[in-house]
This record gives sequence, structure tokens and C-alpha cells, in this order.
Amino acid sequence: MNGSMNRSESMNTGDTMTTNASMTRNIIGWTRKHLPDAVARVTGRISTSGPNGWITLYQTPWGVLMVVDVQGLPDGGGAGIFALHIHEGGSCASAGAGPFSAAGEHYNPDGYQHPWHRGDLPPLFSCGGTAWLCVLTDRFGVEEVIDRTVVIHENPDDFTSQPSGNAGEKIACGVIKWR
Ligand SMILES: [Zn+2]
Repeated sequence: MNGSMNRSESMNTGDTMTTNASMTRNIIGWTRKHLPDAVARVTGRISTSGPNGWITLYQTPWGVLMVVDVQGLPDGGGAGIFALHIHEGGSCASAGAGPFSAAGEHYNPDGYQHPWHRGDLPPLFSCGGTAWLCVLTDRFGVEEVIDRTVVIHENPDDFTSQPSGNAGEKIACGVIKWR
């Protein structure tokens, strides 16, 4: 009858879809055939309570697929929205200048303003303290963020304020490593 009918019939029967409209199929197919290239174990300052989870990164032909799976996000305050960035530093140490201060600033080798840093990402939306986010980005490759940090902040990112979106303190951090 029409194109959409044909497409849904194709999906229902499991036929190979040749349309280029389905990034979903591309991504799901990729994750079925490949293990992540890199991972980060993310924890709060007390690793046995508070935010904790994993971030996995796949280098795909379409960009870096980043999957965030975190539990234990705090209630209140920031509307359940938590800024997320890759930071330039290679350590989550707290060196006197606030929690996870060794993570440094947003990963920004080009000297751009926020939110055009390579390390800028969509925020996490808490779902009863859990957040799950999957994003495709071509701002960076996996290799260049190895030994850098992923940081979750206490507040939303306003995507305007300099230098870091007025996102408040770092509440969780992890170092990205080859898997
Ligand atoms: Zn930024």
C-alpha cells in the first residue's frame, strides 16, 4: 500500500532492512556483534554508597556510542537532572579543591566555549535514582578519551554558563580505560 506499511512488514518478518533511516538497527546490531572498546567505573566519593555504575564506549562507524548506567543518584535539589561531561584530567582524586578536583575542566582541546567542548554530553535524567542514557557523538573518538574522566554533577547543565554550565559540584567520577 505504501512505504510505511512495507517497512513495518519487513520489520515484523525480520527481513534485512535496506533503508538508511534506521540508526536504531545499526546501533543494536553493532552492540550485538562487538564488546565495548572502553569502560569507566563511576562512583561517588564513598564507593560503597551513593552514585555508582558503569559507562561503556563503543567506537562505531557512525561515531562513539556511549552508554551510561548509573544507580544511587540523590533526591531533591537539582530536579533529578545531572550534568554529564568528559573531563580532561586522568584522576578522580580529591586534592583539596573540592571533590574529584583532579578531574579538572571539561575536555576541550580546541579551546571552545561550553557547550561546544568535546567533552560536553547530554545530562542524566534520574528515574527513581537510576539513570540510563545512550548517546551517539562524533565530538571525540574513544582513543582520545582513554585515561580521561567521566564526571556526574549535582545540578543540571544550563548549556550557557561558562566555563561549565553552572552544574555545581562533582558527585561521581570514573576514569575511562580500554576494556
Ligand atoms: Zn563544557
